[in-house]
This record gives sequence, structure tokens and C-alpha cells, in this order.
Amino acid sequence: MSVRLAEGSPTLGGLIDRQIAHSGPMSVAAYMQLCLGHPTLGYYRRAKAIGRTGDFITAPEISQMFGEMIGLWLALLAPQFPGQAFELAELGPGRGTLIADALRTLARTAPEAAITGPTLIEISDVLRAEQMRRLAGFTPSWIETVQDIDPEGPPLIMVANEFFDALPIHQYLKQNGQWHERLIGLRDGQRIWGLDPTPLPIHSLPASVRDAEDGAIWETALQAASVMDVLAERLKARGGVLLVIDYGYEKTATGDTFQAVAAHAYADPLDEPGQADLTAHIDFEALAAPARALGLEAFPLLTQRDFLCALGIESRTAALMHTHPTRADEFTQASNRLIGPDRMGHLFKCLCVGTSGLVPYPFATLPEPAP
Ligand code: SAH
Repeated sequence: MSVRLAEGSPTLGGLIDRQIAHSGPMSVAAYMQLCLGHPTLGYYRRAKAIGRTGDFITAPEISQMFGEMIGLWLALLAPQFPGQAFELAELGPGRGTLIADALRTLARTAPEAAITGPTLIEISDVLRAEQMRRLAGFTPSWIETVQDIDPEGPPLIMVANEFFDALPIHQYLKQNGQWHERLIGLRDGQRIWGLDPTPLPIHSLPASVRDAEDGAIWETALQAASVMDVLAERLKARGGVLLVIDYGYEKTATGDTFQAVAAHAYADPLDEPGQADLTAHIDFEALAAPARALGLEAFPLLTQRDFLCALGIESRTAALMHTHPTRADEFTQASNRLIGPDRMGHLFKCLCVGTSGLVPYPFATLPEPAP
């Protein structure tokens, strides 16, 4: 498994194995962090992962309609910042497709909207270069972490599509009535699963999972929580909203969602570190907690289907089919993939948090004017 690419240049697998041999088994979080974020060999630092020819395809890469709906979402929010610019930011913009499609739609539908940015939070140099190409004609700037978002400035509107699923998680498994952290170790040169012998104190677990059956797995995304702490502070200080779109579950629960995808197929997460995309589903209840704790509003979750349909994706599909009749099948299929209940429509959820007073349609609607 720890084959060398060339004399003197170990693979990421080789480096991980050496670290385990030296310091003992590592947490899933440490493993994920290395696999995805290692400065030179991590998954997001190198290859062009996203898209038809990459390892996985995301909603904005399926169809321009996804980014267009986000553009309409922004157009509906913009008038709520009268006379004031807002800063648009995106976390993990991938190839820049979503934000480019959204900005084009925003310019057409709300040309008066005063926006600064987009500010793009991205660790990958390869993807930054791609984003720059897509955003020719706009004025993007880049930062590496959410800490770099200015604590002062105009209200923020932030978007994160399939960003949080890439942040490391810890896993705990219940055995003989106690919860133990799952660790990755080595036996006979092979990476294997194991458990930390010291159990986790029971009060560290959310009440809703404590009493699960033996064999249950509970996941916690500590880094996602820290990112949300910072985003919530910035929103509190500057005003604005955050839209998170990702696959996940509404309430904290047990379940093993740690997975690897390479070349559009599931892979063993312990094989070939750095060569596959590693992700975990989002616990949206836990993700929203830091925002709630700061007194921000966390609107009820919407499925991706309900979000996109409320913004008019079905009429947009019909309009595109009418304008480009030879591509009608392509548009129908893309729309089905995005909103089909057995496709992305129900698995993907949309979370919106923001400062009170803002009415981000379709999470909330303005009252009807009195007759
Ligand atoms: N939103 C895009 C891409 C999703 S892939 C789309 O929908 O197509 C995840 C993105 O997050 C990539 O751009 C990746 O490089 C970036 N990313 C992953 N971990 C990150 C981190 N810790 N900080 C900043 N960006 C990160």
C-alpha cells in the first residue's frame, strides 16, 4: 500500500503509515485532514477532482440552473440591504461555476444590487486558478480560512455548497455499553480499523445518541463547528445570512457516513490516501448550534428540491428547453437529477442562518400586505 512514486518521494499513504508506526493509531479526523488537506499530497491540493472527468460531480457542475437559482436567491435578498452594499462570499467554490452562474443571473435580474466580492475561501491553488478563469469580468479575491473574513465591513451573504462535508469528523463506536473513538492503525503493514481503549465520558455525547445499541457509530464534526463559530460571529458583527447546501440529516443521530469516492465510484477510505475524495454527511442540528447559541436565526431546513422549486427551477428548465430544443433531454435530465426525490432532491438539504429581520425567501416569506 505504501508504494513509492520514485526514490525519495513517498506517497501520502507512506507518510501516514510512518506517522502511525511512530505515534500510534490516528483518529478519523487526523486521517481525513491529511488525506484532503496535506500541503502537497492532499486530495484538494492537487488533482482536478470535480466534474465529469473528475472523481465526483456537484450540483453546479450538473447544470447552470443550480447557480442561476442561487443568483435569484441573491436577487431576492439584495433589496433587504437598501442603500448598502453587501459582501458576497463563498466557501469552497470548487471550479467557480456556481458563483459565476449566480453573478450572471444577479446582474440580469437585480442590476441595481450593490455587491462587493466575491470573496472566495479556498485552500486549493489548482482550484483557485480555475475560479479565476471562470470569474473573468468579476472582481474576486481569495482567502484561505474563515478567520480571514474581516470582522468589520458591510453585511455578508455567504454560500457553501458541498463544503462542510469535506471537513474532518471524529467517529465513536459503542462497545459493551461504552463509546470508544474509532482509530486507524497498522497491522502487518496494512491500515486497519481499531478503537481507543479509553472510553469517551458519557456526558460528551449528545443526549439523543447516548442510549444507542452496541455497534452504533456517532460522528462529530469539530472543525465544522469551529468554522460555524467564526461564521456566526462575523454574521453577528456585520449582519447577513449564510446558505449551506449539503447532504445530511436533520437531527443528531447515529450512523456511519464516512465515505470515499474516486472516479465516480465508492472506494475503501483506507486505500490510497489522497487519491479519493473523503466525506461525511452533515449533522445539520449540530451545524446550526453555534449560530443559534449566538442568537442568530436558523430557519427550518428545506430539501434541495423544495429550495430549487420555490425559486422556479421548473420554469427555468422549460424556458431552456424552449430556447434550445435540441438539448431538451439534457435539461430535463439535469433538472431531475437536482430535484428528483430519489436523486439529490431529498438527500441534499439547505440550511439558512442569519441576523434577525432578514427574510431570506424561500426559508421565510414576507407577510402579505394588508388589503
Ligand atoms: N462548492 C463546489 C465545490 C465543492 S468541493 C461545488 O459545488 O462544485 C469542496 C471545495 O472546498 C473545494 O473547492 C475544496 O478545495 C474546498 N475546500 C475543502 N476543504 C477546505 C478548507 N478546509 N478550507 C477551504 N476550502 C476547502
